[in-house]
Amino acid sequence: MDLVAPVVVEPLRRRRCSECLRGPLERMVVEFNALVCLDCADLGHLVFLRRGDTALTRRAREGSTLWAVVVRHNRRRTRYERQGLLVEEAALARAEAACLADAEARARRRARDAARRAAGDVEITATLRAEILRLFPSCPGDRATEISEHASAKGSGRVGRTAAGRSLDRGAVTAAVRASVRHVDTPYDSLLMRGVPRHQARTRVAPAIETVLRAWRHGAEDTRGPGRG
Ligand SMILES: [Zn+2]
Repeated sequence: MDLVAPVVVEPLRRRRCSECLRGPLERMVVEFNALVCLDCADLGHLVFLRRGDTALTRRAREGSTLWAVVVRHNRRRTRYERQGLLVEEAALARAEAACLADAEARARRRARDAARRAAGDVEITATLRAEILRLFPSCPGDRATEISEHASAKGSGRVGRTAAGRSLDRGAVTAAVRASVRHVDTPYDSLLMRGVPRHQARTRVAPAIETVLRAWRHGAEDTRGPGRG
């Protein structure tokens, strides 16, 4: 089947997401003439790789189940110009390892690690991780870490950074876990890559997600049980 990489646009003007209303957006997706942010478009887990290093770009793209093309409109030339790709971070790390002889790739990797450390608020991340493991006791520890780091990234506006996240709303925490399961434990990203519309792909993988969530919840207190509020 042909792969159709999603196209991500760097807007020239200040834009907001039509679904979560977050903004202004650094990058966005145009869906049925509506603008949505990368998180709402389920591309928020991907990292940006600026064009320039051909070998690194090719390796990172080939290693990513889902990747997207990032473009910006050039008014003077009246055309969209490719800025780079959004790729999976693990694929980028593998690509960088493969290009290890290339000192620039190492510098980029260090810069990204430093940026992630600076962005992550240790306390919020730890609180969120504990809440994930309370709600999903059988969730693997490294996954809980990954989900909480992603959700609490500074400036992301994600669950860990919203009012709902600070009070650790159960629904918001569950939504963050569900999003991770969708990308990691289901063929969702492959479906998007094959051009299946987001909502249709979501419906298709919903049962698989619930199966994983049920397994991870195993051992959780049943708060809906008799005699409980
Ligand atoms: Zn959004």
